[in-house]
Amino acid sequence: MRKIDLSGKTALVLGVANQRSLAWAIAEALGEAGCRLAFTYQGERLHQNVTKLAAKYDDALVMACDVTSDEQIDGVFAQVEKSFRRLDFMIHSIAFARREDLEGEFRKTSLEGWRTALEISAYSLVALSNRAARLMQREGGSIVALTFLASERVFPNYNVMGSAKAALEHAVRQLASELGPLGVRVNAISAGPVSTLSARGISGFMDMAVHHRKKAPLKRNIEAKEVGDAALFLCSSMASGITGSTLYVDAGYHIMGL
Ligand code: NAP
Repeated sequence: MRKIDLSGKTALVLGVANQRSLAWAIAEALGEAGCRLAFTYQGERLHQNVTKLAAKYDDALVMACDVTSDEQIDGVFAQVEKSFRRLDFMIHSIAFARREDLEGEFRKTSLEGWRTALEISAYSLVALSNRAARLMQREGGSIVALTFLASERVFPNYNVMGSAKAALEHAVRQLASELGPLGVRVNAISAGPVSTLSARGISGFMDMAVHHRKKAPLKRNIEAKEVGDAALFLCSSMASGITGSTLYVDAGYHIMGL
């Protein structure tokens, strides 16, 4: 079997909260392929978790980064440049909306709630990609963002997060168009429901996962590892002709009508 070898490559993975995080499954896939890893965490609450997970890799970097802070984002890229001298891959696995904006009526979303969700979950990809591209432009690179089908369809309680994912997917295409000439590819993975910290914050998430399992062509939910493998593929040279795409890792759920 052809094995993906990423030794000598480096990746910045944003969005590990714990070992259930999709970002962690992606980091494991990249790490197993020999890639050197840098992680970020948000707030002291997650510092210990992420440091403990990252300890699996001898030479991993662990840095604080709240993506609402330009200063912290700049600090992360300065540290990556200093330690790695290059960046090949960036994984954007970050989303946030206020609890009150993930239930009830969408039309009652406040401007502040809208701004928070769109800033953290979508704008951050733009701000991060701008910095990442500078470190990738010598040898090219790959950026992967995590999205959900609520960008295109209505899912109860996803509300403003659906708007944020629509903005994120548009940003993926816009960035792919701009960064393509620099050899940087930008793609999204649209994952089916996986029980993570963020996912469990959405009311009715477990019912939705059951519905997905029943309706999806493969008659099951996906596993985080399958998202990790898809990200590994998108980062590797096997996906060298793919940019601006959304790859569905959802057991086929997105193709179904009734
Ligand atoms: P997760 O483990 O909770 O990861 C979300 C991460 O975003 C957390 O590490 C969180 O940190 C971080 N984050 C939130 N606000 C941030 C900020 N201001 N600055 C930096 N980081 C911030 O949940 P996940 O399910 O793996 O989510 C990862 C991505 O996958 C998200 O984009 C999500 O929408 C997407 N996705 C998930 C599913 C699913 O069913 N799980 C399906 C499709 C797509 P804190 O914990 O400190 O807030």
